[in-house]
Amino acid sequence: MIVVVGIPLDENSSFLQGAASAPNAIRDAYHSPSSNYCTEDGLDLSQHLGWKDNGDLLLSPMPAAIQEIEKGIDAQLHTGNRVLSLGGDHSVTYPIIKAFAKKYPDLNILHIDAHADLYHDFEGNPFSHASPFARIMEQGLAKRLVQVGIRTLNSHQRDQAEKFSVELIEMKDWREGTNLSFDGPLYISLDLDAMDPAFVPGVSHYEPGGFTTRQVLNMIQQVKGNVVGCDLVELNPTRDLQGMTAMVAAKCFKELLGRMLQ
Ligand code: MN
Ligand code: MN
Repeated sequence: MIVVVGIPLDENSSFLQGAASAPNAIRDAYHSPSSNYCTEDGLDLSQHLGWKDNGDLLLSPMPAAIQEIEKGIDAQLHTGNRVLSLGGDHSVTYPIIKAFAKKYPDLNILHIDAHADLYHDFEGNPFSHASPFARIMEQGLAKRLVQVGIRTLNSHQRDQAEKFSVELIEMKDWREGTNLSFDGPLYISLDLDAMDPAFVPGVSHYEPGGFTTRQVLNMIQQVKGNVVGCDLVELNPTRDLQGMTAMVAAKCFKELLGRMLQ
């Protein structure tokens, strides 16, 4: 069974709050009568018995929230479920991966983002949404970390990427037809700001020069590997225009879910 878990946390967002209301905004967009419940492969998610929405985790304020997220994901993985999480800011990925790494010691991560999120800490917060992949890599929680869409590296983050042997495909170097391929379990972490702000006005950090929606959907559909978990993070409904970013998020949600149900 694939379980959808909402994680309404935005306390670790360095610039703007708002992502805590994303899980319900994505659900609303998913249920919008303006579209339907089918993936592009024709899988009708409304009729599929292989998944369920478990609602949101109940979270205490930071720092307790970090452990509560790990426990919440642990509980699902222990019963044999796989998990698709709806953030929240990107800080949720560290405790999620802590849980996944216990079950999958050879976990691969595909991280799609404008930002490397490798800061040792950001303004003193080691749990910042700018730091989850530093925590993940220093604890050896992933066999491979492949980052795509990155276009904001400073010298500290370049050093961190090198130190942790991160496989970086910067946005400026992305070419159509780039083959992404993983042996063993694959976790996909999708930060919506990987896409150009033209497509996703409802995110906290506008970083021009990003992917189109189509490029990200193709990546989800075409990456080679056994997808055991996903997260979709950084929708900020308070910045959205006419709910258009929520629809992009719901579209990505449907394709990620379809991919996990394959
Ligand atoms: Mn991020
Ligand atoms: Mn980002």
